[in-house]
Amino acid sequence: MTVIDTPTTVPSRPFGAPRVLAGISPDRALTWTEHRAVHGVPALRPRAWLTDAMRAVNLLGRGGAAFPVAVKLEAMPFGGPMTVLVNGSEGEPASYKDRALMTVAPHLVIDGALVVARALGATAVTVAVHDSRAHASLAAALDERPDADAITVVHTRSGFVAGEIRAVVNGLNTGQARPGGRRDLPHDHGLAGRPTFASNVETFAQVAVLARLGAAGYAAAGTRDEPGTSLVTLVGDVIQAGVLEVANGTRLDALLPGRPGALVLVGGFHGTWVRSTAGLTVDRAALRASGSPLGAGVIARPHADTCVLAEVAVVSQWLADQSAGQCGPCFFGLPALADDVRAFAAGRGSEAQVVRRAGQVRGRGACAHPDGAVQFMSSAIVALADDIAVHRAHGTCGRPPSTIFPLPRSES
Ligand code: SF4
Repeated sequence: MTVIDTPTTVPSRPFGAPRVLAGISPDRALTWTEHRAVHGVPALRPRAWLTDAMRAVNLLGRGGAAFPVAVKLEAMPFGGPMTVLVNGSEGEPASYKDRALMTVAPHLVIDGALVVARALGATAVTVAVHDSRAHASLAAALDERPDADAITVVHTRSGFVAGEIRAVVNGLNTGQARPGGRRDLPHDHGLAGRPTFASNVETFAQVAVLARLGAAGYAAAGTRDEPGTSLVTLVGDVIQAGVLEVANGTRLDALLPGRPGALVLVGGFHGTWVRSTAGLTVDRAALRASGSPLGAGVIARPHADTCVLAEVAVVSQWLADQSAGQCGPCFFGLPALADDVRAFAAGRGSEAQVVRRAGQVRGRGACAHPDGAVQFMSSAIVALADDIAVHRAHGTCGRPPSTIFPLPRSES
């Protein structure tokens, strides 16, 4: 069974055969011996083989942007010093999948890093992680195996924006974990100025599975357009809270049974609020086309009879507070939008003002944070229109605030 709990214990329920979570125990790491019994030794492949396989299965990065991994690999130079960076700085507060993977299946993440390093001829691998438990698990895993001399695990700063891949590179290079410009790409100028293949933890685990199974074997699960499996973090009133591995193509309705018309957040704190998940599946291209990208894989449904508007206001303020302060539209625009959202919760607020402010912020930051935050707030205002009307009429809906997301409540 493919479940790792976040804070709570829940009964198991299968959503397809596990791959990256194959053989795991939810509360401890697979040992090197156990890992090899499940996955074997890393299948080290030539660069052309790996690129072709990634392209054949349309392997998409699992950090949120869903960038084609084959394109990223092809952008790396042939020869010369280069580096592999495993980004385990999972900054999305509602997501737990990367930390879970590093904690319970560290050897598979290491396998994936070694596969990429061997294909590129890179001699150094850095794993950046802020979570202490995940860090300890990776460090113990490195001690167990004989093939990991080139790998270094480093502690990074936690934070939503600080976990963005270019911010992680800057943080490791300069101590300032801030994103560079949108054209500042690790494959050009990464760790120590070297070309760096950088991707998130789950991506590397999927690469390890792909290298072992080959494209045809990997495509035995999932859909034609997006073969394979994905890790998702389910939050709130869901069939099973925690980290699940699901076959791509799994219906969101299957993960969120009952309560048609209930509010659902797809994609996490940079995601989209929707009133219906009918027809939506774990398929990154289809979800993006529908206007609700999967992001880092968070799917959240607040509990019935709670005030979601109150929690949206808390998260909006938190998102505003995450601005790294480099770009005016982000630094000034997001707090103003968060104020607008809080006004709705207090029975006031102007939808037209939110639309106007959102237009002033969108696309004007050096990183994707303002766009994602605007998407979260704007989609909430639309999906919560009925609730906003109730708050306007009565000043409150009378329900207790929703509290499904792991944030300090003092901000409300
Ligand atoms: S857009 Fe915002 S979070 Fe991103 S770099 Fe600029 S100020 Fe920082």
